[in-house]
Amino acid sequence: SIMPAVLSAMSKGARSGLLFKGGSDVAALSQVRVIAFDKTGTLTCGELHVTHVQGVNGFSEEEALLAAASVERLSEHPIAQAIVREAERRGLALEKPARFVSVTGSGVQAVWREHLWKVGKGDFVHVEDGVFQEGEGRGKEGETVVFVTRDGEAAGWIALQDRIRSEAAIAVHALRSQEIRTVLLTGDCPAVAAAVAKESGVDEWRAGLLPDEKVEQIRSLQQRFGPVAMIGDGVNDAPALAAADASVAMGAAGTDVALETARIVLMQDDLNKITEAVGMARKVNRIVK
Ligand code: ADP
Ligand code: MG
Repeated sequence: SIMPAVLSAMSKGARSGLLFKGGSDVAALSQVRVIAFDKTGTLTCGELHVTHVQGVNGFSEEEALLAAASVERLSEHPIAQAIVREAERRGLALEKPARFVSVTGSGVQAVWREHLWKVGKGDFVHVEDGVFQEGEGRGKEGETVVFVTRDGEAAGWIALQDRIRSEAAIAVHALRSQEIRTVLLTGDCPAVAAAVAKESGVDEWRAGLLPDEKVEQIRSLQQRFGPVAMIGDGVNDAPALAAADASVAMGAAGTDVALETARIVLMQDDLNKITEAVGMARKVNRIVK
């Protein structure tokens, strides 16, 4: 049975938009030494918009965007939504692709107008060095870049801008005063990770991580510091959420997979609630002990 103090914390949490799925999740959170954050949709708002489209190798800007948007229409990723929105804003007519495949944490591909198109990060689509460097140069400004290829040949790249959550730096600072180490784990490139880490003030960051590599990072943090909480919103975060000692999902904008996997849900996507949750969990733990 659940101790009255735990039940009371759970109902108090629920009233302020903090959902603990079980009593043991309160105890788990009270022990946490490290909180690992996903980037897109967690430390950032996850509402991206396209800032630049570049055609290369004789492909026009419009061709690259139309092909990318036609393929991305079948993806739920915030990058995909932004690319589709930009194509629609420019009045491009999207056409249905065939044999669509989504590779979580890397990109998408499909057959469109009898060619195989890929849209995604550099090491997923394999573009030549010159194009890669041109695109990645945008990363220093914190912009995410995805590359577009047709039958293995670079056709263009698309730069997208996200916004860091307004409360991110305050929440990270508050966690530090609770003696919790903060780490950013992202599938995006090092330049973008560094920019977001700097703005939010997290202690460490790791970039270019595939979903399984996020799990490896959780395990390594557990060995170095003790119990770890993971907070994320995406399909790509689910394995890391499952591996962590405590797991938190962004409730408003999070994917179903993240909501199902995580044991704690932030109903309003407010990062300050994590500090509140840790404080509440620690207090309960003292009472129960
Ligand atoms: P994060 O860890 O920041 O939440 P993801 O793991 O979802 O990011 O994605 C990592 C990278 O993979 C993105 O920065 C992007 O380069 C690429 N990517 C993932 N999904 C897509 C997609 N649908 N279209 C294009 N690129 C994608
Ligand atoms: Mg995410």
